[in-house]
Amino acid sequence: MLFLNSQALINASYLVGGVLFILSLRGLSSQQTARRGNLYGVVGMAIAIAVTLASNPALGGKFHPALFAAILVGGVIGGVMAARVGMTQMPELVALLHSFVGLAAVLVGYSLDLFGNGAGGPPHLIHRVEIFVDVWIGALTTTGSVLAFAKLRGKLFGYKVSGTPLLLPGRHLLNLTLLGVSLVGAYLYAKDGNQTGLHIGTVVACILGVHLVAAIGGADMPVVVSMLNSYSGWTASAAGFMLGNDLLIITGALVGSSGAILSYIMCRAMNRSIWNVIFGGFGAAPPKADPNAPKVPQGEVQDIDAVGLAERLKEAKSVIIIPGYGMAVGRAQHAVRELTEILRARGVNVRFAIHPVAGRLPGHMNVLLAEANVPYDIVMEMDEINADFPTTDVAMVIGANDIVNPAAEDDPTSPIAGMPVLQVWKAKLVIVNKRSRAAGYAGIDNPLFYKPVTKMLFGDAKDAVEKVVAALKA
Ligand code: NDP
Repeated sequence: MLFLNSQALINASYLVGGVLFILSLRGLSSQQTARRGNLYGVVGMAIAIAVTLASNPALGGKFHPALFAAILVGGVIGGVMAARVGMTQMPELVALLHSFVGLAAVLVGYSLDLFGNGAGGPPHLIHRVEIFVDVWIGALTTTGSVLAFAKLRGKLFGYKVSGTPLLLPGRHLLNLTLLGVSLVGAYLYAKDGNQTGLHIGTVVACILGVHLVAAIGGADMPVVVSMLNSYSGWTASAAGFMLGNDLLIITGALVGSSGAILSYIMCRAMNRSIWNVIFGGFGAAPPKADPNAPKVPQGEVQDIDAVGLAERLKEAKSVIIIPGYGMAVGRAQHAVRELTEILRARGVNVRFAIHPVAGRLPGHMNVLLAEANVPYDIVMEMDEINADFPTTDVAMVIGANDIVNPAAEDDPTSPIAGMPVLQVWKAKLVIVNKRSRAAGYAGIDNPLFYKPVTKMLFGDAKDAVEKVVAALKA
């Protein structure tokens, strides 16, 4: 196998890899360029792995079958998992993968502590600080991510795991104490390499990871996954400093900062405080629902069938479609695209309104609509389209609930009070397609269903939209 010993060549390759990762993130920021962005990332990672293997003095340019077997097995398992995972299970998979990043960082840290980095001798003070930081964040990320995975999945090794937050009395004091003990461990280890300090830091970070994530409710879990993504980036960056690997430092910093920015954006879109999510219930908690509020949905709903809706759509000049989680579950995006084509062919102005937290992932709806070949120029963000509802003939809500709940604006006691929502009820006619009057992710009733302007199109999203398409064609 080739052995690279020119530092200039290694640095140049890492620089190319770093630029490719930056281009990848840039590409992933819009649907048109996402595929290319993904490709840049794959090529960047291939360069990073190849150069690291070819330049590692410990490998000495020799072919190590065990190493390649491990890469092959890992690659195949990763490929199969990615191919089989459903879009709605993506947050679980991402959480699990973050735990591997954390675990890798802990193992690298311990191996450097035990065996040094090949330069000989025990680690110096600055290296010991790097090792401690790397192991500490890595351990926290590992246990936090495993618990996040279990909470999202609802079970771990066959045991049920509840999404309800565990709010221990004096939990902030407990966190502060754990932080304090970690600092003592850091001091012991940094001072003269006393391994007990490193062990203390590892155990405490593992407990802290569990405690921080346990205190967070199911509704905030996807933000937590994005925060853990950010932590895993900082862990990788710390590992890069430890190993003297520039590309790992750059990549880690990119993941760390983009994860932190994404978490902030998600928190803003859900009207949550980022501190509340990071420290599990710290600071302004979301308002509690009125305990006297009726448990059963209140009011009468008017329903409409596919044929009736087709008649109303034939008269419409403008239609806004609001997709939500139910469209993803029902895999109705292709039927929705067909409906869009038919209406546009009849001269109707059809547009899509995308709420920033529609579905279960940032960009979830955009990905599904892009997959179904819905033209990008009719897919609008909430801020671009919210003012247009009063002049819209039909607002069609497909499998969405919380993101169109007027209680967010009208009811200060609602758990989603203050969350920006799509103001569909201002349209001349609102159609809500879902299977029942059941609540959405936030678990609350939706007064939209009982408004005089609203008609419910009950049924599975794909089936219901296909029936409307058939009625329009008839
Ligand atoms: P919701 O979860 O509020 O509602 C989805 C609705 O879809 C349900 O009420 C369900 O009603 C309906 N549904 C389920 N399956 C089908 C089907 N096969 N056909 C038709 N309807 C179906 O989804 P929204 O997209 O409106 O809101 C997203 C929620 O997720 C928000 O609360 C947001 O805060 C939260 N969230 C989103 C994140 C993101 O990044 N996107 C991150 C974190 C949280 P029924 O059972 O009656 O059919």
